[in-house]
Amino acid sequence: MESLEAYRRGTVRVPDLPDDTRTDDQALYKALVASLSEMGEGLMIIENRRFSFVNEAICLMTGRSAEELLGWPSFIFAFMTDERGRIMDNHLRRLSGEAFLPCYETAFEHRDGHRVEVEISVAFLHTTLRAGVVITVRDITQRKLAQEEIRRKNHDLQVLSASLEQKVLERTAELEKANRELIRLNQVKSDFISIVSHELRTPLTSIKSFAEILLDDADKQDIGIRKRYLSIINSESDRLSRLITDVLDLQKIDAGKMVWNDEILDLCEIAQSTVELFTPAFRDKGLSLSLSIDDPHMAIYAESDKIRQVFGNILSNALKFSDAGEVKVELKRLTDTPSGQPIIEMSITDTGIGIPPEEVERVFERFYQVDDSQKRKQGGTGLGLSICKDIIEHYAGTIKVNSALGKGSTFVILLPSVDQPRKKLGEVLVELGMLTHEELSTALNEQSKN
Ligand code: ADP
Repeated sequence: MESLEAYRRGTVRVPDLPDDTRTDDQALYKALVASLSEMGEGLMIIENRRFSFVNEAICLMTGRSAEELLGWPSFIFAFMTDERGRIMDNHLRRLSGEAFLPCYETAFEHRDGHRVEVEISVAFLHTTLRAGVVITVRDITQRKLAQEEIRRKNHDLQVLSASLEQKVLERTAELEKANRELIRLNQVKSDFISIVSHELRTPLTSIKSFAEILLDDADKQDIGIRKRYLSIINSESDRLSRLITDVLDLQKIDAGKMVWNDEILDLCEIAQSTVELFTPAFRDKGLSLSLSIDDPHMAIYAESDKIRQVFGNILSNALKFSDAGEVKVELKRLTDTPSGQPIIEMSITDTGIGIPPEEVERVFERFYQVDDSQKRKQGGTGLGLSICKDIIEHYAGTIKVNSALGKGSTFVILLPSVDQPRKKLGEVLVELGMLTHEELSTALNEQSKN
């Protein structure tokens, strides 16, 4: 060990013992000092507040030579500034005979300024020749670092275990939610099956009863009655067929088996042709049907048949549930949207019977019909709007209804717009400045005459 070596080399001075000390006591004393040094323990003696002895370990811990330390007017300078008050206090207590700390942790200030954590134990030195304290010093920097590391790891472990507990709680809550959803879906499924069976049986029962009447008294019935019964059978068969188509559609959507043949669609063209298709039926009922479009280029990415199905369903409801007035279809492009992506708004407003406020949300539920007797009169299935909602939501859109009882309803559909469909050659030529608007319309007029 360096300190033992230093002692052997004589570079560490061991304080002298009185001359009359026995030789073997002298030897024992020096061996003790040397062995302390060899263990790396610091040893210092303080007399009159000054160092009167320091071993090599103290020199290593403070980064100073024994000569420098012994030359200091006070031992206190070896300690960190923030420790000095406490040490002096303890020292003075000892001097005045009060209770003092015989062993405690403190810190040296190394020559280069860094903190050296130490544990010191203080013992009296009181002989006829000397009075002071003998202090043994242990460098506990490594121990402190290890403690700090353990503390940090413990803290990390606590954080980890808290976050694990939190995760377990979250996961349990998710599983409970999924479980509740599963129970709900199961319930919806069994409700659906019982409603479907009931709804199928109703038209089937009337078809069967009227067919039986026709068969039983076939010879006696007059032609008018037969015709009436046959037309009931016919319309009930239509209802049955609509119901089956709707149920199959819903089942396909639910099972993810619906085929979506999507492409870029010109929504204006779809609205125009659907309105044209419905115009005669509206006219027959004395209702007016109008279409207004604020931008002739409105494109969405969807399947034409599915969008026509949505339009058709809402228009046929407007027709069914209005006895007078007008139905307006409006198409608008909304550009000031939160996402910045343009949205197309389609609204269909009627002046029909309206929907009671408490039932407005429920019209999109499966088999929901506002009024049972009305339903029978109109012969719907209660599935149309539910299918419309599924279709619109499949295309990342929304559908809702605003209604006032006795005044009418407005169904509003929002769908994300995509790039405009390819422009016609004539429009591109106008944009390029190769044709004027007038030239284009003259050319189109010529074309239509031919
Ligand atoms: P249905 O085949 O019965 O029309 P829908 O799902 O299309 O099924 O509509 C569900 C119910 O919502 C209808 O039965 C009706 O009570 C109500 N409803 C739908 N559209 C309108 C409307 N334009 N005016 C008043 N009520 C409506």
